[in-house]
Amino acid sequence: MSQTLFENRVSRKFVVYLWLAGLLFSFSNHSFADIEKIVLSAEEKTFIQEHPTITLGSDKSWEPYIIVSPDGNITGYDAEILKKVNQLTGANFTLAVGKWASMQAKAKVHKIDGLSTGTAAPGRTSYLNFSTPYLTLQKSVFVSTGNPQSIKKPEDLQDKTIVIQKGNLADIKLAKQYQNTHILYVDTVEELFSALSTGTADATFGNGATLYLANKLGMPYLHIAFHLPQQLDLVFGIRKDWPLAISIMNKALSTLSQHEKVRIQTRWFSAQPISQVKNIQKGVTLSAYEKYLVEQTPSIRMCVGPNWLPFTFINENKIYQGVTADFMAIISERLSTNFTLVPTSNWSESIALMKEKSCDVITAITPTEARRQFLTFTQPVLTSPIVLATRQDQFFIKDINNIGKKPVAVIKDSSAASLIKPYYPQLNIVEVTSIKEALNKLSEEKVFGYIDSLEVIAHNVNKENHLNIKISSTLPIAFDLAIGVRKDNDWPAWVPIFNKVIESISDEEKRQILNRWVGIQYEKDVDYNFIWSTLAVIAVFIFLGIYRYQVIAGYNKKLEELNQELAKQAMTDQLTQLPNRYLLDKEIQRVTATSKRYGEVFSMVLFDLDYFKEINDEYGHQKGDEVLIHATHEMNQATRDADLLGRWGGEEFLLVCPKTDLQGAIKLAHKVREHLARQRFIADRQITVSAGVAEFHESENYQSMLKRLDDSLYLAKQAGRNTVRYSDIKQ
Ligand code: GH3
Ligand code: MG
Ligand code: MG
Repeated sequence: MSQTLFENRVSRKFVVYLWLAGLLFSFSNHSFADIEKIVLSAEEKTFIQEHPTITLGSDKSWEPYIIVSPDGNITGYDAEILKKVNQLTGANFTLAVGKWASMQAKAKVHKIDGLSTGTAAPGRTSYLNFSTPYLTLQKSVFVSTGNPQSIKKPEDLQDKTIVIQKGNLADIKLAKQYQNTHILYVDTVEELFSALSTGTADATFGNGATLYLANKLGMPYLHIAFHLPQQLDLVFGIRKDWPLAISIMNKALSTLSQHEKVRIQTRWFSAQPISQVKNIQKGVTLSAYEKYLVEQTPSIRMCVGPNWLPFTFINENKIYQGVTADFMAIISERLSTNFTLVPTSNWSESIALMKEKSCDVITAITPTEARRQFLTFTQPVLTSPIVLATRQDQFFIKDINNIGKKPVAVIKDSSAASLIKPYYPQLNIVEVTSIKEALNKLSEEKVFGYIDSLEVIAHNVNKENHLNIKISSTLPIAFDLAIGVRKDNDWPAWVPIFNKVIESISDEEKRQILNRWVGIQYEKDVDYNFIWSTLAVIAVFIFLGIYRYQVIAGYNKKLEELNQELAKQAMTDQLTQLPNRYLLDKEIQRVTATSKRYGEVFSMVLFDLDYFKEINDEYGHQKGDEVLIHATHEMNQATRDADLLGRWGGEEFLLVCPKTDLQGAIKLAHKVREHLARQRFIADRQITVSAGVAEFHESENYQSMLKRLDDSLYLAKQAGRNTVRYSDIKQ
């Protein structure tokens, strides 16, 4: 049977996943960014234990190094670097902000432990040790976008106008080094930018923070013309008596890759890495406007599903991970664009933030009509089939409509939920908030099934080691996971840009990403027992694989029998063993269709036992059941082979008579009625039946015919029961 084959295939797939997972695990550890830690000396480790927090002061107005949100939360370049350092070392360097002068004073008297965002100024060497530079900013010459005066080297500044903010002594001194250069003094930084963009001035001096400010002020019209030799090195300064803090810091800083530093720098300072020209790679060709858009957008705020493994999740270090995170990393790299994660704790929150435009894009989202109200969608980044998981001991489910009112867990507000609801409105859905909850409810038999994507279920079943859960059915729908983009302003123009990158991702790359996340067990730390733990994990995987395979092989034989049994059960009335209403329905649909198509006549008879309630009342329900069984048996005896008698409801039965006209059906109804009346199921007690008859008319539909049957039956009852009435549409 095909269902069995499917189970077999899916289960083999599981086994393959397990194998793959094991193998991948053994090879891929070193590529996991969050597990590479640095080696600290014993003294350094002790130092960290004894100094659980190390507070560095900075100035509260120094964006983008230090960005203080209204709720006091500090982000920005320095904060992100310190976060990385903390991840790598296990230390807790934190920031405190105030006025720079007072922060220096506090550092001198050890009220705080050091300073951030400073230079290794000679005046501070008496009370601070300095780290290696955590940021080197180059002084650059900035011009308006497009560089209208073609300023490319220092000589080009001749006869040009340089705009400088009054009081910026260093820049004024610098400008005066160029001969025949005019200086335009302005009061504010806004005036400075508008002088450049309107052509009143030709150039200015600045560094990475200049681009950040320009973007922040909504004047993103600056470009770097060329770099000057002057550099600004920013270092961390830590109190003189804590040299170990500096050595810990330096170890971490030296571990940060150049790539990572550029990414962080780009994120906080500009749309453009300071010393890098945009490098859009791998067959992604953007139009001039698209390039402009990409270049002028410093950072894209990104909402993600925080808890939907393996597609998307936020780990404990607030880092976005999973299949779609890997895709977004490729997009980020190929566009040289930064995505800034807006952390949330659940999907509903992510959707809410997206609606209120606190995010610019949302990842791993299924396009739906409702969501098109506030989002435009890229093409799918990937497509995943939707499946039903049940416990191992359940039958196969050929058609999910057959599970009736059994409760099925679905993650609230999830893509699966929005997709299946319109398809299966009759499903008894139990909304849960997490996959874990769904799997637990399933294991504990609190729900019958759990509907979600194949990858999600495969991954989580493996991860949580739910051996008693299997995939029982695949639904005829699949999930598309796309990127949702804000609908206002220029944002929809990002959709074709993202699409170009999505198209550039090869099948091989996709496969690698999926393999990496589906079915993998994550280990956080790699220690010296790495080899052993890996072998142990592989052994467990192999064991599980063999175990499952055997269990499944055993099941397959049983399943074939069970499937047949199930198919029968799904269509048979349990009490009378007659076809149930579901099968009758199907049969009527089939017969009506043939009748319409070939002009074949057919009729139906609706029977209802007379005064049956009395039987129950007088002899009990149990006896009533027995009578029902016997009565239906006798009724069936009286019909022809081609006729189909089924249980329509309680003590109502429907007889479908193909190729039979009204007169023939009336005769048949009487035959059944008379046959039944002759039986004695209970001593001295006659059981009778009333019937309504109708012949199908080509102008009507199934429903209207049922209505005529019902009306005729009512007339038969009115006429005193144990009789037949019919409806003749031709009269
Ligand atoms: P009439 O149709 O002649 O008007 O009278 P009635 O007593 O048959 O009518 P009614 O439809 O009100 O009651 C049908 C009764 O059939 C109600 C219920 O007790 C009984 N019944 C329906 N299904 C079953 C069943 O599966 N087992 C038993 N024992 N009784 C059933
Ligand atoms: Mg009835
Ligand atoms: Mg009745």
